[in-house]
Amino acid sequence: MSISIERLRSLLDRLSPDHHLLPAVEQAYGIKKSGMNGEASLDYHLHFIDGDFQVLNGIRLQGDLYIFQMDVVLVTRSRIFLIEVKNYAGELIYDGDNHQMLQIVDGQQKAYADPILQAKRQTVQLRKWISQQTLPSIPISSLVVFTNSYASLDSPHPDVIKSSYLPFKINAMKPLPDVWTEEEMDRFVRRCRSFHQPENGDVLKRFGIREDELIRGVLCLNCPRVCMDKAHGGWRCPKCGGFSKRKALERAMHDYLMLMGDKVSNQQLCDFLRINDRQVANRILKSLGYKKVGSTSNSYYLIPTD
Ligand SMILES: [Zn+2]
Repeated sequence: MSISIERLRSLLDRLSPDHHLLPAVEQAYGIKKSGMNGEASLDYHLHFIDGDFQVLNGIRLQGDLYIFQMDVVLVTRSRIFLIEVKNYAGELIYDGDNHQMLQIVDGQQKAYADPILQAKRQTVQLRKWISQQTLPSIPISSLVVFTNSYASLDSPHPDVIKSSYLPFKINAMKPLPDVWTEEEMDRFVRRCRSFHQPENGDVLKRFGIREDELIRGVLCLNCPRVCMDKAHGGWRCPKCGGFSKRKALERAMHDYLMLMGDKVSNQQLCDFLRINDRQVANRILKSLGYKKVGSTSNSYYLIPTD
């Protein structure tokens, strides 16, 4: 699971049901999840493509002005396929004349930006980026692929297709002469990975949510948003009576890591877990085995990120 979706998950778990931004966070989570499902389902179809190629997923690179993100990049020695992945449901109509994508779900129509133009912009940026890497210029073909097998697609455009058709379309394309050596292809893939810009991690900042708006405490793993009580040797849920020795605590610390970062002081732990005894907090920090940094007065602990 990618880190950005885990951040949204932790935020969702710790927003009260009546928080005014809950719908916005739920929507962002839904979009992210749907996109990931789309890319995962595309993996299956990629197996049917002939020849040697390498695949890059969700690479974000710094362009001249903006960061550009590419859903799937298929790299061969003769050309690159830049694949824009959409996992929309319902009835989908590509309207190239008016540069929009229409989606009809339950009789409701919604318009999206033209995905072909989106892919074309990425192509321009990637071409430029490749020349800055002093790699020989290579043909780039952009495709828009719809991965939701339950959706119907009406597209007159040959490059706006469903994912099941993707391998057959690529296999039927006229072969081009190789322009990159094996080494150049590897170098491109390596550099994409090393220059990849992960999405801004600060999910609280992104939504404008303050730390004190979050539900604090060790949450029950069975009851959503219910804070457990410290009990001997673990934590107990006041609602379902469930007991957790460690798992619920580890989950809470994972939420802390996703929302607040990897540094935690005794005071911050007390605040986040709703503990009013520094000695108890100390014992918890020791039991978690975090590395201590700094002197006694302003020391903090590092939460491992793996
Ligand atoms: Zn419970």
